[in-house]
Order: sequence, then structure tokens, then C-alpha cells
Amino acid sequence: MMEGTLCSRCKRRKAIIEIRYLNERLCRECFVSFFEKRVRRTIRRYELLDPKDVVAVALSGGKDSMVLLHILKKLSKKAPRSKLFAIIIDEGIGGPRRKGIEGAMSFCDDLGIEYHLYTFKEELGLDINGIMERASKLKNPMPACSYCGVFRRQLLNQKARELGATKLATGHNLDDECQTALMNFIRGDVSRIARAGAVVGVIKDPLFVPKIKPLRESPEEEIQVYAELSSLPVLGSACPYAGDAFRKQMREILSRLERRYPGTRYQLLGSVDNLIPLLSMREEGEKPRLCEVCGEITSGEECKSCAMRRELGLRPADL
Ligand SMILES: [Zn+2]
Ligand SMILES: [Zn+2]
Repeated sequence: MMEGTLCSRCKRRKAIIEIRYLNERLCRECFVSFFEKRVRRTIRRYELLDPKDVVAVALSGGKDSMVLLHILKKLSKKAPRSKLFAIIIDEGIGGPRRKGIEGAMSFCDDLGIEYHLYTFKEELGLDINGIMERASKLKNPMPACSYCGVFRRQLLNQKARELGATKLATGHNLDDECQTALMNFIRGDVSRIARAGAVVGVIKDPLFVPKIKPLRESPEEEIQVYAELSSLPVLGSACPYAGDAFRKQMREILSRLERRYPGTRYQLLGSVDNLIPLLSMREEGEKPRLCEVCGEITSGEECKSCAMRRELGLRPADL
């Protein structure tokens, strides 16, 4: 389809990718600069970074966080006062996931970026397989991804804080954000919609490190192409656990809509952004609190992660 087509921008080089929502075809060079410019624009538009920020990147070894680290490293050359390091969490899944973690570590070495590795086993006392074994004895066990996601989030916040980070950057992309938005709409989870957005955790509290999502406006398929073009060492990090079935449905629905109506994802993201200020006002009276044990966002006294730790008989988080 792209055979012999010239780039819509430079009109000189051969196009390698079609950007359907723009009705453009771009060559390698124009695509890379288009992609990086958009990330810079996201950062500027939502004021995600301050020149003096100490940024911790949550690095999983998957394409999203690797691309994020690669771009933030490029940008940090222009902001010499900022500091950048990576946090890697090993859930103990092993197999291809382990390769992803090794890839992440050697990627940091190549970039000259300091990283900190933590394991579920050491931090929680059990790896994810051990956790699932314990969970199977509960009355209502949750899927592995729920435990994994919740514990990862808690550890990332805790470690970022201990390491002195002022921001925690995650690799959430446009598709993740749209899936989450749809899930929240369908479940009617208004407070979660209010808490979405490019910066999560506007609460000013020394226990909570604000999370930023610089790839929020970058489509997943373009991140994939960018990672390949930049020769990033993204290794298979497929998880043997099944994943969130509901999220998978949202993914299918969205990709069908996007194919039929290019630009749907940006429209959905725009709708969420327009709703956030309205919903936050509504939520004003019932601001999310921070967990008394670990400092995570919670609606009650105890956060989800601390509740899960208790149910599973794991050691409590330390503050
Ligand atoms: Zn071009
Ligand atoms: Zn907690």
C-alpha cells in the first residue's frame, strides 16, 4: 500500500507509515520528528515537567516505558538541572518477562541512566506465583493482573518517594487511556474519571509522588514503530496470566471504531479532559485521601494494596 508513496511532509523520501487520522503518509525522518514533537507538546500542554524535577521512570521493559525513557533522556540534555532515573519492578513471573527486565537493565546501562531494581519476593515476601497460590485459597480471589497492578503501583510510589523523585513517569499511551476511560464510563466510576488525566495525584502531600504520562497522546501502534526505528531493545514481555478480559474488549471496540472513524481515540481523550474539571468540582467535597499505612490514594482509611496485603497475609507496607 505504501509502495513508492512519497512522504506527505518532505515530499522527497519514501513514506513508511500511514497516519490515518491526519490523512498523511510519513517517511522515517518526518515520522520520528513528528512523534517526538508530540511528546514534547504533551509535556508542555499539561505542564508535566519542571526544569528542576527529579524524574523516576517506571520501567517495565515493554515498548512503552522504553520509548518513554529514551525520549526523556533526549529531553534531559536540554534541561541539565533535571535528574532522571529508572525504577524496575520484578514481579517474579519469569520466562519472557524476565528477558524484558534484563533488557530494561541493559538499556539503562547503555543510556548511562541509574536504575533501581525491586522484587515482589523481597518487598512483599512472595513473588506473583506465590501470591496467586495464596489467593486461590481466598473466598473471592482476584485475577493475577489485579494483584500485580495494585502492588506495582504501591511499590513504585513508595520507592520513587524514598529515592527523592518529584515526579513518577509512566508509559501509559493513548490506547491505555482510552480503554481506561471507556471502562470507567461503563462502570459509572465518576471519581476515577475525575482522577484520570495527564497528571495523576494533584494532591499535595509529601507521601504521594505525582504521576505523569508523557505518552498519553501517542497511539500504541506508533510507539511500536518508533521503538523499531530507534532500535530499542524491546524484548517479549508477554505475561502468562490472562490479562483483564474487560480491558481486552474495550481494546477491540476501540480499534474497530478507530479503523472506521480515524481520530476516535483523540476525540474520546478530549471528552475526558473536558469532563475532568467538572467532575473534580463535584468531587471537591470528597477529595481522595491518602492511605494511613502507605500513602497511596484511597477512598477509605486503608488503600486497596494494603487491604490485599492483609487478606493475603503478606507483610504490611512500611512507610
Ligand atoms: Zn518526510
Ligand atoms: Zn496503603
